[in-house]
Amino acid sequence: MANANTNAEIGVIGGSGLYSFLEDVTEVTVDTPYGSPSDSLFLGEVGGRKVAFLPRHGRGHRIPPHRINYRANLWALRSVGVRQVLSPCAVGGLRPEYGPGTLVVPDQLVDRTKSRAETYFDGVPRPDGAVPNVVHTTFADPYCPAGRAVATKAARGRDWEPVDGGALVVIEGPRFSTRAESRWFASEGWSVVGMTGHPEAILARELALCYTALALVTDLDAGAETGEGVSHTEVMRVFGENVGRLREVLFDAVAALPAEGERDCLCVAAHDGWNLGIDLP
Ligand SMILES: [Zn+2]
Repeated sequence: MANANTNAEIGVIGGSGLYSFLEDVTEVTVDTPYGSPSDSLFLGEVGGRKVAFLPRHGRGHRIPPHRINYRANLWALRSVGVRQVLSPCAVGGLRPEYGPGTLVVPDQLVDRTKSRAETYFDGVPRPDGAVPNVVHTTFADPYCPAGRAVATKAARGRDWEPVDGGALVVIEGPRFSTRAESRWFASEGWSVVGMTGHPEAILARELALCYTALALVTDLDAGAETGEGVSHTEVMRVFGENVGRLREVLFDAVAALPAEGERDCLCVAAHDGWNLGIDLP
């Protein structure tokens, strides 16, 4: 279990192709009332800030998007002290101009998943006997505005002009979209499609964490191109090409996030007026 010596303030959840983040790390195993997270937490320091890194799919990409224990992942991060989360992920571009290598910092989310535990506050007794109340969380703006501003500025600082805003569609996976699905998403005006942004963002909000997605386009989604469609090999290849500069942007963003105690965004007030029924870690 984590203890006071293993605390962190900022969490980074690494996606496909980003399985390590820091070099000098302390590995800690954390258990939660919701089971085990995807992997150990790897704690270290970046720019004077204490960071906890969690590989979302586990080391070696063992866990597909629909089987990730999202509740355990976010709970584990909060339990070691994390209050702000940066979440890089691989996505498909839904517009021809959003080709491989495009960085999108979305400001909206569309949930097309089917089978995921997406709340801590469902009124169902936990294995440890605690009973959460039913809570309906405000989610009109699913991402932290302060975190988004920091992330876009960090990308610009590395000469990587990001797409500032747009909707991330989250599909169930593990398959990629059909051409018809992809064309439909694009016709709605949505920007990129991925498999892990939900329920990560809402669970972060339910834990009053600031959550910012950095979506790296690794391919044009099925409807946006005329070739064979998306392949996992291509996704991993493009991610590998961009992982160096993505890590630089993440490092800069970590250093620039608000200090704890100076957060004044909507995320902090996520529970105003609610009795949660359970204690947050
Ligand atoms: Zn926030």
